Amino acid sequence: MFEKSIKAYEEACKVIPGGVDSPVRAFKSVGGTPPFIQKGEGAYLYDIDGNKYLDFVQSWGPLIFGHCDKDIEEAVIKTVKNGLSFGAPTELETQLANEIVEMYDNIDKVRFVSSGTEATMSAIRLARGVTGKNDIIKFEGCYHGHSDSLLVQAGSGMATFGAPSSPGVPADLTKHTLVCEYNNIENLKKCFEESSDIACIIIEPIAGNMGLVPATEEFLATCRELCDKHGALLIFDEVMSGFRASLKGASGILKTQGDIITFGKVIGAGMPVGAFAASKEIMGHLSPEGKVYQ
Ligand SMILES: *Cc1c(COP(=O)(O)O)cnc(C)c1O
Repeated sequence: MFEKSIKAYEEACKVIPGGVDSPVRAFKSVGGTPPFIQKGEGAYLYDIDGNKYLDFVQSWGPLIFGHCDKDIEEAVIKTVKNGLSFGAPTELETQLANEIVEMYDNIDKVRFVSSGTEATMSAIRLARGVTGKNDIIKFEGCYHGHSDSLLVQAGSGMATFGAPSSPGVPADLTKHTLVCEYNNIENLKKCFEESSDIACIIIEPIAGNMGLVPATEEFLATCRELCDKHGALLIFDEVMSGFRASLKGASGILKTQGDIITFGKVIGAGMPVGAFAASKEIMGHLSPEGKVYQ
């Protein structure tokens, strides 16, 4: 029984493109109309027709404690009663920053943003600002949010400058993005031969956005080695793996470490929060300490 959801979807389609606020929610790849959710409770979801689901999605990762965890719910309600936003600093930000910084060995400072997309976008700008270089390397199958320079697909060659994967993204903005094959060491080496202007590699160290593909130890070590050799920075996009693959994310279980780490999803437990973090030397380039605007 999906009558109410079908009706709700029709209504939504009139005022929201495709009836959804993220394409994957439209169910195009699985068929049917999406169930409209009434509420979540622990491991379960209930739709507006009263169907109950065992929820393996958990909001695409953030809800590692399930829906409506009592401690989180209480903390949110207590905090909200003091106001939602001030446009001025609060002590809570420092508290959260301290928790994150204490958890990881290789980061000293963290800057909070509102989404994973903003975290990766800002991390790349920071890497470019620090190195004074322009090109970035990303891997096919890794997702780093919806900013222009990351909406790229591989061209025809093996190691290649990317082409826009969406209308609305000028080729001028993707020409600095090199697209490589995940776990392909030769491919990566070729990229560094083709460009002497590489600011950073951005990678999901455990790739969750193409099924689940772990990076080989050798591949990550090569990423590290090539970055060090050519004066580029290594960005670990831990928006999905952070606080999830382990308490210290993928960084906690891998030998290779990144220079900049990006967070999202779990860090907000369902609320719109992201962050990026690095050593105090790297973060010192960020405005207002340094010149890189964010
Ligand atoms: C979801 C995701 C992002 C984008 O995060 P949003 O909060 O949706 O903008 C970036 N990187 C990875 C690895 C992700 O899984």
